[in-house]
Amino acid sequence: MKHRIIVLGAGYTGAVAAGRLARRLHADDVRITLVNAEPDFVERVRLHQVAAGQDLKPRPLAEMFAGTGVEVRLAKVTAVDADRRSVAVVDTDGNAELEYDTLVYALGSRSDDHGVPGVAEHAYEVASRPGALRLRERLARLDAGSAVAVVGGGLTGIEAATEFAEARPDLKIALVARGGLGDWVSPKGRSHLRKVFKGLGIAVHEHADVAEVGADAVATAGGEAIPAQVTVWTTGFTVHPIARASGVEVTASGQIVVDGSMASVSHPDVYAVGDAAYAMGSTGEPLRMSCASGTPMAWQAADAIAARLTDGRLPHAPLRYFNQCISLGRKEGLIQYVTADDTARAASLRGRTAAVYKELVCKGAAWGVANPLFGMPVRRRSIRAARTEADSTVEAHA
Ligand SMILES: Cc1cc2nc3c(=O)[nH]c(=O)nc-3n(C[C@H](O)[C@H](O)[C@H](O)COP(=O)(O)OP(=O)(O)OC[C@H]3O[C@@H](n4cnc5c(N)ncnc54)[C@H](O)[C@@H]3O)c2cc1C
Repeated sequence: MKHRIIVLGAGYTGAVAAGRLARRLHADDVRITLVNAEPDFVERVRLHQVAAGQDLKPRPLAEMFAGTGVEVRLAKVTAVDADRRSVAVVDTDGNAELEYDTLVYALGSRSDDHGVPGVAEHAYEVASRPGALRLRERLARLDAGSAVAVVGGGLTGIEAATEFAEARPDLKIALVARGGLGDWVSPKGRSHLRKVFKGLGIAVHEHADVAEVGADAVATAGGEAIPAQVTVWTTGFTVHPIARASGVEVTASGQIVVDGSMASVSHPDVYAVGDAAYAMGSTGEPLRMSCASGTPMAWQAADAIAARLTDGRLPHAPLRYFNQCISLGRKEGLIQYVTADDTARAASLRGRTAAVYKELVCKGAAWGVANPLFGMPVRRRSIRAARTEADSTVEAHA
């Protein structure tokens, strides 16, 4: 019987892992099933662009994986039972149960409201495609002069505020940040951010903690009311509760705890990658939720599974950071070079060149997902062949 590998989630990391597994393992030996709720691969790093009114290239998963040996299954995952090695899904035919020998969990994350009152009722988000489309529709209906508050001064908030301000100069855009604007980037990077924000007319409320979101304003803990006909909530991501309920070991926030090969520390036949996984980088620090670290996590998991099944050597993917690529609208950008553990170096790339660089990074990431069999020599070692080889070696030594 073929070894059954199920990959849950066809975002950046699940799709990359499935493609790499198909490249590494022989189709006679394994059956690889990629389960995703939506029929398309969604370029999540561009969802602020979607909200600003831009259209993305459709990327149907069925086309991307045609001829790769990966079976794409359109279904929503509702539960995982790690002890019974089964996944519950629901699709157009109803409920079904899928059994696996090896699981790759890559269901990503979603917007985190942090329990702040009013977020669920009044705020919009850009962490999911449906959320970005809802916001797009709302922004399109906003009259000139209306106020939009983007809450969250991280990468997503900065990218969203600049994108909206560039696309809709008639709106009053504000960024509300708990810290200072870009206070983790280099001094030159920070002053570039300030210059671009000023040029785009974005009001910046720094060191402001939002305590409540209302229908037409956000209230800060300091007692300030910032007008907002639309509030966009970008304060971070949280993982789906499916992981916690599956029986695998998770962190307090629900991420699956994995070892250096991306295998669950409690269930070695479960691998987790991307936002859903709690993994250490090469410097011993936890990796943050990002494509930048999620993609090498996917390589690592696929290589580890292939090595385990074929008794092969386990390569080590570079689980470290090189730069933070920040779009500031379509014409401006900031590439902040960082150390392996994500700390800003003095050097950065700014301006139009940085915007082009970021665009190439996004295109490259999507291209890598859309061309699963490209990019490395075929090394489909047969599980059977490897086992037979191993057996004959044992016999020869007997
Ligand atoms: C606006 C925005 C900009 C960003 N910019 C950057 C950036 O510049 N650089 C960077 O490194 N990172 C960036 N990120 C973060 C990055 O997008 C995530 O870290 C990355 O997408 C994580 O990959 P993943 O495969 O873990 O999850 P995802 O890419 O989210 O994929 C998860 C997949 O699982 C599917 N899924 C979820 N639940 C279910 C279910 N129950 N059943 C079936 N399928 C399901 C989803 O449909 C999706 O296909 C950005 C994020 C956002 C929102």
